[in-house]
Amino acid sequence: MFAMDVDGILTDGTVTLHSDGTEGKTFSVLDGMGLGRCRDAGIVLAWISGRTSGATEIRAGELKIPHVIQGRTDKLVALKELAGQLGLPAREICYMGDDDIDAPALQWAGIGATVSTAMPAAGAAADYVAQRPAGRGAVREVCDHILAASR
Ligand SMILES: [Mg+2]
Repeated sequence: MFAMDVDGILTDGTVTLHSDGTEGKTFSVLDGMGLGRCRDAGIVLAWISGRTSGATEIRAGELKIPHVIQGRTDKLVALKELAGQLGLPAREICYMGDDDIDAPALQWAGIGATVSTAMPAAGAAADYVAQRPAGRGAVREVCDHILAASR
């Protein structure tokens, strides 16, 4: 399973608030392509976000992400719950996150991945730091490594 945080991983961590109360986020087509290929290769995909966002829901729907958990800042608890439901051990899970609340999940997962803009605790807990920026290919980079390793 490849599980990931949303803000700061699938996006650059910014949220655009419109005066009508709606919000916007920018997602990468490169990341979308990588996630689609992982999905087609049979890798379980999950998004675990601390915030609850309609934009995230729409993008997850477009990419057919099977497990979308929003409004959970206890990332490790949420990840372990999902892993338990799916019968997946930590060693078969890659988790990607950028904030200090992601650090326990990064440590627990078999592989923890992050971005160069991660907060220090996440950076310290991660095994791999993507060269491409958050929201602009960082997830694609990890997808490509997972696909290459699973061939
Ligand atoms: Mg984040």
